[in-house]
Amino acid sequence: MPPAAEAPESASRHIARAPSGFHGPDKPEYEDYARCIHCGLCLNQCPTYRLWGLEADSPRGRIRQMLLVDEGRMTLGDTFVQHIDRCLDCRACETACPSGVEYGKLVEAARAQIEQNYRRPLASRLARNLVFRHLLPHPRRIAAVARVAGFYQRSGLQRAARHSGMLRWLGLADRERLMPPVDREFFFSKLGCTFSAIGTRRARVALFAGCIAQVSFTALHEATIRVLTANGCEVVVPSGQLCCGALPAHAGVRDVARELARVNLDVFLREDFDAIVTNAAGCGSTLKEYEQLFTTDEPAYHAAHAFRAKMRDLTEFLDALGLVAPLGERRLRVTYQDSCHLLHGQKIREAPRRLIRAIPGVELVEMRLADNCCGSAGVYNVTETQTSLDLLAEKMECARATDAEIIVTANPGCLLQMRAGAEIHRTGQEVLHVVELLDRALSAAAAHSSI
Ligand code: SF4
Ligand code: SF4
Repeated sequence: MPPAAEAPESASRHIARAPSGFHGPDKPEYEDYARCIHCGLCLNQCPTYRLWGLEADSPRGRIRQMLLVDEGRMTLGDTFVQHIDRCLDCRACETACPSGVEYGKLVEAARAQIEQNYRRPLASRLARNLVFRHLLPHPRRIAAVARVAGFYQRSGLQRAARHSGMLRWLGLADRERLMPPVDREFFFSKLGCTFSAIGTRRARVALFAGCIAQVSFTALHEATIRVLTANGCEVVVPSGQLCCGALPAHAGVRDVARELARVNLDVFLREDFDAIVTNAAGCGSTLKEYEQLFTTDEPAYHAAHAFRAKMRDLTEFLDALGLVAPLGERRLRVTYQDSCHLLHGQKIREAPRRLIRAIPGVELVEMRLADNCCGSAGVYNVTETQTSLDLLAEKMECARATDAEIIVTANPGCLLQMRAGAEIHRTGQEVLHVVELLDRALSAAAAHSSI
């Protein structure tokens, strides 16, 4: 395959094309990795390079390994898999890159290549199959597992397991601490519902509700609906929607991600909405990039294109729409942690900050390294727990240094990670989604007006 016309001239000097031993769309493509000019500007933005100082665990080093594997000069074996697995897929390297390397696309393709050409240890295969193929695509199974987890958390079993030392003995203590708290009532019951705009209708939007979020973030979804309706949006929660496919796609399980994408495209494009919104930056990034899962000759590719035109992160949407509902004063010092997939994946930096500053009385203090990953990164905190906790420790140190009472972010995964961080490191800080802060300000205004 000849180099793509848009590949920088310098790339062809560095990378000689050789026949690939791999075929099909699920592998890093020459025209994508050839954009890398080896400048190294991404290195110090990469959390794993900053931790270990190893070229093989830097964006440049990983891209080099993708090239070598593609050319058949490196085996697709344990070493390659280890370095690709250790990547957070945080995409900080994309923001730093002057050459336009789409690193997220590359690493997800490399993971798909691994999924299709490498045999992982049995326990890993079983766990991945269970989660990505037999759990996430099935809402009823998610609800069933959540009921069991909720019983564990509320019956006293969790407390007993934590105090008995059993979790430590099983090597599960750290992972268990990162387990999401399960709601008593799930958001699944709201699928198919429509919530009317308060006052004049300014927009009609569809809410993307996610998978795990429907059993762990019902309160966040409800706050989202309150803020949207208060600002003149009719909110439809389409039934039939499924997990966005981000977790399978990030793990290289692309066949599952594709099937989920097809269902969601069908569900959300059935009706005409002004926008499709999500309060999860991790989901939003994948939803906006559904096109990458399909080849240009597939109908789903064109559907994904139309879908992308409507897809908005909640903060992006509210910022563009403009807040009209009155916000009550909140005398608070807050700091904001950028979600990687909002900042680096979707290039949205200012919208959440503007929304926070719109609340009277709120002082926004910038945190050092706010644009660095908190270590959540999808299932990374489960698969690479120690690295995740190391990154979290640094993050909480930065958060503590701001003296903020509240850490605000824009993604459920980051919320969970930093809530665990605030507990582990005893910072005493509350962790909220931007929309939860807005919701509290709405309540404060309502309470004030009723006095
Ligand atoms: S995605 Fe993040 S962890 Fe992976 S190479 Fe890029 S900066 Fe490093
Ligand atoms: S900044 Fe971009 S071009 Fe430079 S080494 Fe990193 S990925 Fe390659």
